[in-house]
Amino acid sequence: MATFSFTCPHCAEQKMTFDIMGVVYFSNHAGCEQRSVAAFCRNCSMSIGFIARQKPQPILNTPDFYRVFQTDGSINGMFIMVDYWPKPDIEGAPDYTSPNVSRIFQQAEANKAQKNWDAAGIMYRKVLETATKELGADLKNEGNLMKRIDLLAANGRLTKDLADWAHQVRIIGNETAHDECEPEAKDVLDLANLTRMLLVYLFELPGRVAAMRGQEEQAALPAPAPNTAG
Ligand SMILES: [Zn+2]
Repeated sequence: MATFSFTCPHCAEQKMTFDIMGVVYFSNHAGCEQRSVAAFCRNCSMSIGFIARQKPQPILNTPDFYRVFQTDGSINGMFIMVDYWPKPDIEGAPDYTSPNVSRIFQQAEANKAQKNWDAAGIMYRKVLETATKELGADLKNEGNLMKRIDLLAANGRLTKDLADWAHQVRIIGNETAHDECEPEAKDVLDLANLTRMLLVYLFELPGRVAAMRGQEEQAALPAPAPNTAG
C-alpha cells in the first residue's frame, strides 16, 4: 500500500504517515496527469483528500502515473500536491481588528495549528506590539512595549486586569523569542487565548459600541420633510 508523510490538518502531527486508500483520474494539467486521492492519518484515523499532479518528466521515461500509487511504501517526492482538504482549523482575528493586526494574528494561529510553538509565540507577541502601536499616536513613539501597556492602563484604555494580562503576553512572548528551548505547548495556548481576549477588548468591543451608537444616531435623525412641491 502506498503511503506518504504530511502534516495532518486534523491532529496537527507533523510528518505523519498517511495510507492512501483510493485514487481516481481527475484532469490533465499541461500534459501532466492529475489524480484525486483519499488518504487516512495513522495518528488520528481522520481522512484527507488531495489533488496529486504528475511531475514533469522526459517523455521516454514517463511512467504511467497511476503506477506511482500502486507502489508499496512511501511515495513522497513522486508527485506534486496541488491542493488538499480539509484545511487546518484556523480562526480569524476578532471583528474590528485592523487588517495589519489580523494578518499577524492569522500567522500566529497558523503556527499554533501546526504546533510550531516558537514561531507562534513570537507572532502573538508581535500582535500585541502592533496592536498597541495602532491605538494612538501618543503610544506609537513609546518604543518599548512595556511602557505602552502601562500608558494604556494609565489613560484608561486598558483595565488593570487587562494590563496585567498584556504584560503576561509580553513576558511569555519575550521568553519565546530569547529562549533556545522550545516553549511549552500550554504556555503558547495561554498566550493565544490572552491575545484573542485583548483584541476583543481593545478593538471588537469599542467597534461594536461605535456601530450601535451610529445606528442609534441614524434612528434619532428627524425624518425628511415630505415633498410638497408640485
Ligand atoms: Zn491526524
